[in-house]
Amino acid sequence: MPRTLRDPVQLGLDAAAVLAAGALAYTIGTQTLAGGLRVGVVKRGPRRAQVSLTFDDGPDPEHTSRILDVLAASGVRAAFFMVGRQVASHPALARRVAAAGHDVGNHTFAHRHLWTLTPGASIAAVDRGAEEIADAVGAAPHYFRPPWGTFNWAAYVRAGQLGETRVLWSVRSEGWAAAASAARMTAHVVRAAHEGAIVNLHDRGGHPSTPENTRHALPEMIAGLRARGFEVVPLRELLDPAPRGDTRNPGLTPRV
Ligand SMILES: [Zn+2]
Repeated sequence: MPRTLRDPVQLGLDAAAVLAAGALAYTIGTQTLAGGLRVGVVKRGPRRAQVSLTFDDGPDPEHTSRILDVLAASGVRAAFFMVGRQVASHPALARRVAAAGHDVGNHTFAHRHLWTLTPGASIAAVDRGAEEIADAVGAAPHYFRPPWGTFNWAAYVRAGQLGETRVLWSVRSEGWAAAASAARMTAHVVRAAHEGAIVNLHDRGGHPSTPENTRHALPEMIAGLRARGFEVVPLRELLDPAPRGDTRNPGLTPRV
């Protein structure tokens, strides 16, 4: 056989290899870049005595209002990464979140794992999430967090094109499968907090007991963070590169 005529089986294997490499770049490659190397992604703020609380997957008709009440009673503004479909079902609740001064972020339209979506479907998931939020609260979201913190290339690029800062987290209070009690959440977050920490919480989703446990955890969690010298601030303040005044706390142990 002349060398130019390739074995069709080999050609098929070559094509499959190219597709597999492309799929790896689209999923794991992007995740390594974004989640591991933090290229174009924020996982924490600058090293000053501030932390932010962030809530994913809402708004939820049962839990979000109660969590808003607790935050208001504690004088804390947080960030809510909303699912577009939930916003479409509960637009007044989304408006209440924004009106209370919390940051609003895009958590895609339907919370599908981005590794299961084509580029076109991923772009639509990001766009529709942003549109539902803009329709409900009257302003485009400034932040993006992918479901389960997992990017693909198309969503990563699209969020950037929309001007949404990609935000993950540096402290997570819950296990992925098992429920964490309110006391355990509080203890872990207060212990793991560090300068510029972004704390991942849920006002919906996760284990069925998670939003309720989170609400019960919040007062002591916030008190514990403040007792360690941290100010609990909204994301826009945490990520502000040039805040007013010096908020470093000389009493804090420097982190590596
Ligand atoms: Zn989520």
